[in-house]
Amino acid sequence: GSMLVSPDATDADLAAETSVRPKRLEEFIAQHRVREQLQVLLQGAVRRGSPPDHILLSGPPGLGKTTLAMIVAAELGTGLRMTSGPAIERSGDLAAILTGLGPGDVLFIDEIHRIAKPAEELLYSAMEDFRVDVIVGKGPGATAIPLDVEPFTLVGATTRAGLLTGPMRDRFGFVAHLDFYEPDALRHILHRSARILGVDVSDDGAVEIAGRSRGTPRIANRLLRRVRDYAEVRGDGRVTLDAAQAALKVYDVDELGLDRLDRAVLRALVTSFGGGPVGLSTLAVAVGEQPDTVEEVCEPFLVRAGLLARTPRGRMATPAAWRHLGLQPPDSAFG
Ligand code: ADP
Repeated sequence: GSMLVSPDATDADLAAETSVRPKRLEEFIAQHRVREQLQVLLQGAVRRGSPPDHILLSGPPGLGKTTLAMIVAAELGTGLRMTSGPAIERSGDLAAILTGLGPGDVLFIDEIHRIAKPAEELLYSAMEDFRVDVIVGKGPGATAIPLDVEPFTLVGATTRAGLLTGPMRDRFGFVAHLDFYEPDALRHILHRSARILGVDVSDDGAVEIAGRSRGTPRIANRLLRRVRDYAEVRGDGRVTLDAAQAALKVYDVDELGLDRLDRAVLRALVTSFGGGPVGLSTLAVAVGEQPDTVEEVCEPFLVRAGLLARTPRGRMATPAAWRHLGLQPPDSAFG
C-alpha cells in the first residue's frame, strides 16, 4: 500500500509535524469532550498544586495522543519525558527513567500495551506509591532496594486499549478515547496548518483534502504537504480545489481517501468473487499481497468507511463498494 494514506508516522512526518503540532489545549481542534474533561482535570491539579491523576489515551494512530501528552506538560508547566513500551526492555531502564523525573513531571509512554511484564510491575508501584523496588543481584543473594520517585503524572497512549492488563487500566484515574475526526474538523486543522506553514489554501481546497484524509489529522497534514508541492511545481503555489484534485490524482488517492491497494481489494472482491463472501487469504492472493497487509493496512479503513464487511463466512463488498467502483450492486447483495 502507499504510505500516503497510512496513519503511522514516517520520519518525514515527525520532522514536518513539529511546527504544526498544537502546543496548548485551546489550539487542539475538535475532540470537545476529551478537551473539556482534560481542562477540568488539569486546572484542578494546578489549583491544588499537586499532579493530576494518571491519564490513559486510547485510539488509532495519528489522532493526537502524543500531541495531548505534550499539551498536558505545557498546561501543567512541568517537564516532559517521552518513551515507548517497546523501548523499555528491562525494568532497570524504567527505574532509571522514573528516578530521574523531577517533581510533578509528565512521563509519556507511547504504545504502553507493549511494555515488558517486569517493567509493567515496576510501573504499578511507581504509579501507586511513587516508589520502586530495584532488585540488585541474582538468586538467594538478591536484595530489593526501595527508591523514591517524585510525584509524577503518567500519560499512557495505546492503539489497543483492549490489550492492557486489568491492573494497568485500574491505575489510570482518567481514561479518554480519541475518535476519528469529522471532515469539518479536518478542514479546520488544514487551515491552521496552512497558516503556520505559510501555504495559501482556499476553503474548497481544504474541504477536498479533508474528505480524503480518512478522519486522521496526520494524513490531512501529509496530504496538504503533497498538494502544496504539486501546486508549487505545476501551478501558482495556491492549494485550490483544482490543485488538490489534480495532485491527489497523481498520488492515486481517490475521493474517499482510498489508495491503489484499497481499490484493488474492492475490485477483486466485486469482479472476481461476485461481492463475496470470500476468505481473507483468497482475497489477498487475488491482489498479490500478504493476508496481513490486507487485514491490517486496508481493511480497518474499508470497514469503517462502510465498503467492506467481515462476516463469519468471509469478506463481503457492501452495496456502497459496488457504487464506489461505478458498478450496480446486485439485488442479492446483503439481502
Ligand atoms: P498520535 O500520537 O495519536 O499518533 P499525534 O499526536 O502525533 O498522533 O498527531 C499527529 C499530528 O496530527 C500532529 O503532529 C498534529 O499536528 C496533528 N493533530 C492531531 N490532533 C490534532 C488536533 N486535534 N488539532 C490539530 N492538529 C492535530
